[in-house]
Amino acid sequence: MNRKQPLNQTRLPLQKKAVIVRPNKGKKRTARSRYNQAEIIAIFARFKQQRAEPKGELDHVNPFTLLVAVVLSAQATDVGVNKATKKLFEIADTPEKMLELGEDAVRDHIRTIGLYRNKSKNVILLSKRLIEEFGSEVPADRDLLTTLPGVGRKTANVVVSMAFGQPTIAVDTHIFRIGNRLGLAPGKTPDEVEALFERIIPEEFLYHAHHWLILHGRYVCKARKPDCQACIIADLCKSKEKTCDVPAPIVPLVDQ
Ligand code: SF4
Repeated sequence: MNRKQPLNQTRLPLQKKAVIVRPNKGKKRTARSRYNQAEIIAIFARFKQQRAEPKGELDHVNPFTLLVAVVLSAQATDVGVNKATKKLFEIADTPEKMLELGEDAVRDHIRTIGLYRNKSKNVILLSKRLIEEFGSEVPADRDLLTTLPGVGRKTANVVVSMAFGQPTIAVDTHIFRIGNRLGLAPGKTPDEVEALFERIIPEEFLYHAHHWLILHGRYVCKARKPDCQACIIADLCKSKEKTCDVPAPIVPLVDQ
């Protein structure tokens, strides 16, 4: 008898009890992008056309000052951090100088930004660790970076990307929102969004993707009200929140 074997069932020898194999049973369902590969390529190709060389907006002069600036930027704006670090980095652009300056003086420099007491403590502690364990150099390794005081995965991702050219997606509030609002890389946690973005973004776009997404979230797909009229991917976007289907013309921007 040549009966068709049902899908997802494995035929076993007669003496054994047949077992229905359900490949996904017990496994967590992983979220998927709502976009196919051609749509994802189209989205990032437009971001690239608009900003060929996107830049981060945190001022810094070397990997150490970048690390400090990113640590200070948690729950603060880049503009606010840049104001606070302008004078600080003129006098303390190495771990040794920062340590010598001391926690009280660092606190005075950064008191205009949120959580400044805790942040000044972390800046001193991480300077000390860099001197004692890393020869005063910022390690180019995400896992090592996350062992430093005040450095989480997002901070480490930004530093390895901007200072050492390693492609990463540092999921901040903007990238988390875009991943979920558009259904581009939905996830309940920043780690889930990061993993999905890293999986779906074609390699040729991965290095700049982090900045493209942040800048798109900061200036166009804003938290409270997305500015869909100014959006260059409005025709491709599948968000329920979008208010316009016509993409804005792409004007190349050189200073962002
Ligand atoms: S169309 Fe609107 S919701 Fe969609 S990405 Fe653009 S700004 Fe965001």
